[in-house]
Amino acid sequence: MLTRYCCLLLLAAAALAGAQAPYTPPAYPRVLAGAAPLRMLVASRQAMLAWKGAAAVTVINGEDRTVALAMRAGEMLGIARGADGRTSLRKDGANLRAAPQIVRLESQEAIKLWTPTPDTWTAYPAPLLIITLPDGTVSAAVELPLEEYLRDVLPAEVVPSFHPQMMRAQAIVARTYALCKLGRHADEGADVCADVHCQVFGPANRRAKSTEEAIAATKGLILLHRERLAEPYYSSCCGGITDDAGYVWGPEYARAYLEGVLDAPRTTNPGDVRITELLGMKDGYCAASSSYRWERRYPAAEVNALVAKNLPIVTGDPKVTMATVSDLRVEERTPRGRVATLRVEGGGASILVFGDQARWLFGSGVPGGDGLWSALFDITLTRDAAGTPTAYLIRGAGRGHGLGLCQWGAEGRARAGQTFRQILRAYYPGTRLSDEKP
Ligand SMILES: [Zn+2]
Ligand SMILES: [Zn+2]
Repeated sequence: MLTRYCCLLLLAAAALAGAQAPYTPPAYPRVLAGAAPLRMLVASRQAMLAWKGAAAVTVINGEDRTVALAMRAGEMLGIARGADGRTSLRKDGANLRAAPQIVRLESQEAIKLWTPTPDTWTAYPAPLLIITLPDGTVSAAVELPLEEYLRDVLPAEVVPSFHPQMMRAQAIVARTYALCKLGRHADEGADVCADVHCQVFGPANRRAKSTEEAIAATKGLILLHRERLAEPYYSSCCGGITDDAGYVWGPEYARAYLEGVLDAPRTTNPGDVRITELLGMKDGYCAASSSYRWERRYPAAEVNALVAKNLPIVTGDPKVTMATVSDLRVEERTPRGRVATLRVEGGGASILVFGDQARWLFGSGVPGGDGLWSALFDITLTRDAAGTPTAYLIRGAGRGHGLGLCQWGAEGRARAGQTFRQILRAYYPGTRLSDEKP
């Protein structure tokens, strides 16, 4: 009864939050066809913002589309919430007028946006939207057509020298992924962000002939599964085998097309994989990657320090502490060989760490580049005569979560003669491209 009551409260809170969301994403076919733009978040929940244009800027009320102000090239304007809680357009330290909920900035040239945190000016293509959120803070978003967005996303995801077929596969994946994430940042007034959380939007000067060609050659192509958008997760290097999303991220992520495949020139079903055999596999399609195989060596004191600092973070329980580790072992693996459960023992305690958390235990405790490169690893302990651990050797394979397309594997497949269609079919079994027959 109590549970049901709590659920009702949560539903009521969600409905309220939904009513306040300042943005409703368009349906994906409209964005795909170029009939509606993609909104990319470039500044979130700031106390104030300022902008100036390389050319004249027209300030438009985003709700009724009337012109609010005209700015000369180089002229600076800002937006901030006053002590009365109202948000105003400001110039030279004084309020000009009340700000509409959405301020639309149009210009023939790029517009430079200033954020207080971090204190930087960044140039963005117009139109730029400044959105006042229900809590009084302001966000900024660039509006751009999907195909235009891809021109600055693809260069951030690939090496310019990658094979054209790999680039095409990655362009289709990036396009489909963006459509899957429409409205992900609706609470901040936008669809996707410009960071690794969604997809990295790189500076325009990284565009290359090869990435431009891949986007043009695949224009409008997306990946479908049973007439719905497929969620094409991808990572840098799978180490020779991709994994099941349901095992790595939890049952709610399980998809028929996100099941592990062997990333090597064999046709057998990978089945249950032995980690030692996998670490010895030399002919993976992603073997050219510098992260295909890796090793980390830790003296026991370093592991003790990492565990003492990170165990409360990765388990989410601040009361979990351990000063000295007496054993650290992989207790359970996914069928494709990734660490599913890591057991950490010491001082009479025995603690379980699940899935990717095992990677962050060896970094700063939170997802990021300083943890282990992947969850596809094996641990070897060296002990002294008394049985106390003295050193740890971790041998691993690949970099990233290992779900869906393997970028270095896609490159290996392209060099081996596979087309982008064959590459996508290999990593997302059971899917089809939008121009292929169901
Ligand atoms: Zn994001
Ligand atoms: Zn791979």
